[in-house]
Amino acid sequence: EKKPLSDIEIAQSSKLDPILEIAEKVSLTEDDMELYGKFKAKISYEKMRELEQQKNGKVILVTSINPTPAGEGKSTVTVGLGDALSRLGKKTMIALREPSLGPTMGIKGGATGGGYAQVLPMEDINLHFTGDLHAITTANNALAALLDNHMHQGNELRIDQRRIVWKRAVDLNDRALREVVVGLGGPGQGIPREDGFDITVASEIMAVLCLATDLDDLKRRLSSMVIAYDFDRKPVTVRDLGGEGALALLLKDALKPNLVQTIEHTPAIIHGGPFANIAHGCNSVMATKTAAKLADFVVTEAGFGADLGAEKFLHIKSRSAGVEPSAVVIVATIRALKMHGGVPKDELKHENITGLKKGLENLKKHTETISEFGLPFVVAINRFAADSESEIQVLQEWCASNSIPVSLTEVWAKGGSGGIDLAEKVLHEMETNERKFQYLYDMTAPLDEKIRTIVQKVYGGKDVEFSVKALKQLEEFAENGWGDLPVCMAKTQYSLSDDPAKLGRPTDFTIHVRELKPKIGAGFIVALTGEMMTMPGLPKKPAAYQMNVDEQGRALGLF
Ligand code: ADP
Repeated sequence: EKKPLSDIEIAQSSKLDPILEIAEKVSLTEDDMELYGKFKAKISYEKMRELEQQKNGKVILVTSINPTPAGEGKSTVTVGLGDALSRLGKKTMIALREPSLGPTMGIKGGATGGGYAQVLPMEDINLHFTGDLHAITTANNALAALLDNHMHQGNELRIDQRRIVWKRAVDLNDRALREVVVGLGGPGQGIPREDGFDITVASEIMAVLCLATDLDDLKRRLSSMVIAYDFDRKPVTVRDLGGEGALALLLKDALKPNLVQTIEHTPAIIHGGPFANIAHGCNSVMATKTAAKLADFVVTEAGFGADLGAEKFLHIKSRSAGVEPSAVVIVATIRALKMHGGVPKDELKHENITGLKKGLENLKKHTETISEFGLPFVVAINRFAADSESEIQVLQEWCASNSIPVSLTEVWAKGGSGGIDLAEKVLHEMETNERKFQYLYDMTAPLDEKIRTIVQKVYGGKDVEFSVKALKQLEEFAENGWGDLPVCMAKTQYSLSDDPAKLGRPTDFTIHVRELKPKIGAGFIVALTGEMMTMPGLPKKPAAYQMNVDEQGRALGLF
């Protein structure tokens, strides 16, 4: 049997069109862009302002069932569906997140799609791309430096050095930096204090950049970020410290969406990539909005499963951006459904109809959730070589008997041609289904009620329990005037509950909220359930060891 080509082999054997030709497909000219070489460009502020008058195309949101550690192929299906719509003659754009170098160097598995459904140039996108993440890292650390300098120069704001919440950032997986002590070495070196590093994509600045609607809004959000508490336990913000102008200046180019292409030359915007647990996990508002102005159809993705990414897309991103999806695609894989049905990890390659049938309840829950939001959807079965014909048949029949639209999707193996059926079904749902999109909670509801609504309606849980600390914070946050913000749930992606071991569709469970974190610049309150990692570590065999570069400067071993 022939070994299938790796993602990078497929990517490198694909011929890219000049970015100006790609841009033409959505009526962008050279004047509308800033070119980053031949195959990448940023869209100018001038053009984006001009586009504001245009009406929005239809947004299709790709989400999934609760994923397995390998991912269910959401990015792959997003790219493939975009290519399929292009093949059907629809003016289409794709909007995806920018990968972070941490996971790229850590765990094998790209963030630019896979197989014949990829965005290019994948090496650039997965490495330094147009420098957006470096700009965010720099802005994050500039703020940390200003803060420590303020303490050193007399601490006029009376910042309590034990209650500084702003951390430093680096875009790598480096567990040794999780907790550090800074300012050692005597009075000349600043105030000694405990500090720590987050991975750049976990910085609030990433979330701010992704939710900002323009440079003014970016500045306003940067100013509102809470960086510490003073000796009276009052929040200290960037506005109090100053420096928001410099931060915005450092981010002025990073805020502009990046234009690239798929293997099949569909225009794609890759921009912004916040964590999907402690942040909202979607590409930038500016990217999705710009794509919706330029194209008739935009295919975009939200991180993890429908309980996390899609819920946050709908409650946080849609709300602040005014881009609401017209339809949702729920990606499911046979192997993940079997895992939800209790099949052990090392047996997923073998046919197991009983396990599959049992696991379907996880998919069922997500279809119900999307229906609660009032959105039409199609289930996309992302086909893997190991899926058996009988398994596929069982899944299709189950969908039919539950009146769930479903499509067997083969974009990984075939590119856009493997997604034509999915594209047609999504178009059909958008045309025939009357959309009655609704939020599941009101912004005016108190924070604990918002959390309870998400737990009951989206996770299918019984109730929520707050720690003593979280209860106290609920009161403090209401006093600070933060009660009207949406909630960003930080929960394990593997289960509907807060226990990663509870697969399938757990019932009667309680979600435990340990702590709340104010992300006032981003504009949401994070509710932490369980321990959330904001600085990942490297695995025993990091993907970095397989990487290399040849004499031509070509990347090797990047997935
Ligand atoms: P997600 O967006 O859900 O995390 P990705 O689309 O990034 O998932 O896919 C994760 C990995 O799985 C990628 O390396 C991709 O090449 C691979 N993959 C996705 N779909 C398939 C498939 N149908 N068959 C084989 N590999 C696949």
